[in-house]
Amino acid sequence: TYVIALPCVDVMDKACVDECPIDCIYEGDRMLYIQPDECIDCGACEPACPVEAIFFEDDLPAEFTGYIAVNAEFFDSI
Ligand code: SF4
Repeated sequence: TYVIALPCVDVMDKACVDECPIDCIYEGDRMLYIQPDECIDCGACEPACPVEAIFFEDDLPAEFTGYIAVNAEFFDSI
């Protein structure tokens, strides 16, 4: 799955939402989240992000790996 990380917080540009073919990017209070069970790994969202907040999970910089759980947990809370 692709994962949205820290650079999205309080930015929420939402360019990614328009690119996602299956509409699996959801809006929270302070950032956007990718539903990991729905994401088809197409990669369309990644270059759309103006702040480079989106990464394939295996390519996340070490400081952002916690966002795998942050994205997944958002969907447990709604
Ligand atoms: Fe949507 Fe594709 Fe990005 Fe997954 S990788 S969130 S399916 S645009």
